[in-house]
Parts: sequence; C-alpha cells; structure tokens
Amino acid sequence: MHCTNSVNNTQFNLPSVECRHRLCQNPVRFTESNRPSRLERVEDAAAGVGRANLLETPFSMTRAVWDEIIRDSLEKRPNEACGLLSGRNGSAQTVWRMENTLKSPIAFAMDPKQIQQVFHKMAFRGEHLVGIYHSHPTAPPIPSPEDIAYCHYPEAAYLIVSLASPQPVLGCFRIEGAFARAYPYKVCN
Ligand SMILES: [Zn+2]
Repeated sequence: MHCTNSVNNTQFNLPSVECRHRLCQNPVRFTESNRPSRLERVEDAAAGVGRANLLETPFSMTRAVWDEIIRDSLEKRPNEACGLLSGRNGSAQTVWRMENTLKSPIAFAMDPKQIQQVFHKMAFRGEHLVGIYHSHPTAPPIPSPEDIAYCHYPEAAYLIVSLASPQPVLGCFRIEGAFARAYPYKVCN
C-alpha cells in the first residue's frame, strides 16, 4: 500500500474536518536526545511494556499498514521516517508517509501544511487520525523525552519503529501529557 493519496483536493468540495490541525500551526518538531535522562526513560518505558494492560482494547492495523510502515522506515534510513495513520474505530487502515523536513537521523519534523492536506484527504475517505509513526534508525523503540514533549495528539497511538537490530521492532504507546505508556497492538489480515 502506498501512502500517497491520488485524490486531488482541488477537484472536490471537501467536507469540513474537525480542526485537529489547529494544534499544529507551528512546526511539529521531534528530536531524539542522548542526555542521561534518556536511559531512565528507556528503562521506565521498557518496564511499562511488561505492564501493558492486556484487557485494554489493542490498537489494530492491517498487515498492509504494518508492511508500509516498515518499508518507509527502511527506505528513509539513515534518516528518520515519519507519517500518519488513519482509519476508523481506532483501527489503522491507511498510511500517509510524511516528509521529514529535518532530514535527520536523530529527529523529525512534519510540515503543518502537509499535515493539513492529509487531514483533508483522511476526511474525504471518511477516516480520521488514529496513529502517528516515526522511526529510530539506531535507537530503541521507546519515546524520547522530546517525542513526549512534542506529541500533540494524545488520542492517537504513537508508533516507533526501531531499526537498531536486524529485525525491525515496533513500539506502540499512548502519550498523555508528560507520560508515555505502552499500549497493546495487533496486526490483522
Ligand atoms: Zn523518536
């Protein structure tokens, strides 16, 4: 599945969309950090993975979505990939690859204009934002302090693909305020 949507907005009378992107008027900047507190965060988050509430409804995505996230992460290496996921009922069905305007191996930023365009395309499909993903080319799949600080969408699942080991590893989280907690996920066919 390719994330790019062939729908040309200018050809359609777009329905109004919930103005989530108002939260994104400023560039969304995510920066990884190597400062000492990161290690504590990694340990806390890793412990949280084991404590994930298995009774919680897991975040779900199709196999095609999973494959596309991994493909995007590998193709953008050594830089970080980033993108948005849309769907219904908390289930991701469409991947929207986004440009990492920083083109950096340790950080990413999304262009607010591109975000706005993608939200319109999601609405046209009858979908809404259900997840945000980015890659960590060399770091574990754990949110950095900056990831947590700059996450503006607490209702969305926060996915991180780590390419630090031969097999890509996916971490899934909810970020609410200053806290990230592990969130169960499943891949459906
Ligand atoms: Zn990150």
